Amino acid sequence: MAFDAVRGQPAAVDVLTRALASGRVAHAYAFVGPPGVGRKLTAKAFAKALLCPLTLPLPGGERGSGTGHEAGSCPTCRRVEAGIHPDYMLIAPTPPEGKTSGTLLIRIEAIRQLEQRAALCPAEGAWKVFIVDDAGRMTAEAPQAFLKTLEEPPARTVIILILAHTRELPATVLSRCQVVRFMPLHEEEAVALLEARGMDEGTARLLARASQGRPGLALAQDPAAWLERRELALSILADVGADGATAVFKWGETLGRDRAQMEQLIETWWLWYRDLLCAKAGGDPRVLIHGDRAAELTRDAAARSWDSIVGGLAACREAWQALQRNVTPRLTLEVMLSRLALRTA
Ligand SMILES: [Zn+2]
Repeated sequence: MAFDAVRGQPAAVDVLTRALASGRVAHAYAFVGPPGVGRKLTAKAFAKALLCPLTLPLPGGERGSGTGHEAGSCPTCRRVEAGIHPDYMLIAPTPPEGKTSGTLLIRIEAIRQLEQRAALCPAEGAWKVFIVDDAGRMTAEAPQAFLKTLEEPPARTVIILILAHTRELPATVLSRCQVVRFMPLHEEEAVALLEARGMDEGTARLLARASQGRPGLALAQDPAAWLERRELALSILADVGADGATAVFKWGETLGRDRAQMEQLIETWWLWYRDLLCAKAGGDPRVLIHGDRAAELTRDAAARSWDSIVGGLAACREAWQALQRNVTPRLTLEVMLSRLALRTA
């Protein structure tokens, strides 16, 4: 079946399966949901189902026989997967032209390229499929250019926009798309998926919980690196508890330049304080994200006041917001750790 590889998204799969079965395929879809839950995987599976001569639905409800086709195993599907099928295009955010670093954005040139290719007839199959990953990262002028294609969609063209929140795109664009919602996976589904990718049960459960039902995020990182980062995050907390301001400025100096790492650390602290709150409330250890550190959490929670834990969560949240508003990672970290140091003093 077309969506066999998609886990934990029954509503989305149902909508798309019915579109394929009836041949009533929308010109544009918005796949909306958090990263790491299978939006792109589903979009590619949908593209294969539309482009593969063995399964393709034709306008009017006719369809290919489907015999001999295992999703993803035939030459057409493999070319879609590799991004070399002439009727398929995947657009993702890129750095500024001529640079390898810099802000990743969907640039107007890419949208123009999409428009040009959409205007052509399908080269091989019955459809042309365009996926725009991270569509919320369009530059200011890109949605406007895009709107023309959406308002007068070329025949047999399917455009799939992938985004986290509907607010990332202007309503004028979104109103021309069929919105398909994607949800975080249930813990057991995420654990099974991670185990199927070769993780042992303990690591799979830890990362399924830490990624909060977004196994794609867990797969995108090396489990060992994740565990190392947690050790670093906890050792910083211990340092700040012991040495106060000296430790705050030492870590600001050491870590203050890397925004991505800072986001990950803040998320780690956030989840740790969340667990402290659970432990303080006497919650079932099975609801802890860092379940492998339950004893330490229980001790730490007992030694802290409610105010200290709730204040820690607030400090994490505000640090996260500061980073999103482009405050420097160093200042963000120093303010946050100072607040935590005051709380533990
Ligand atoms: Zn195929």
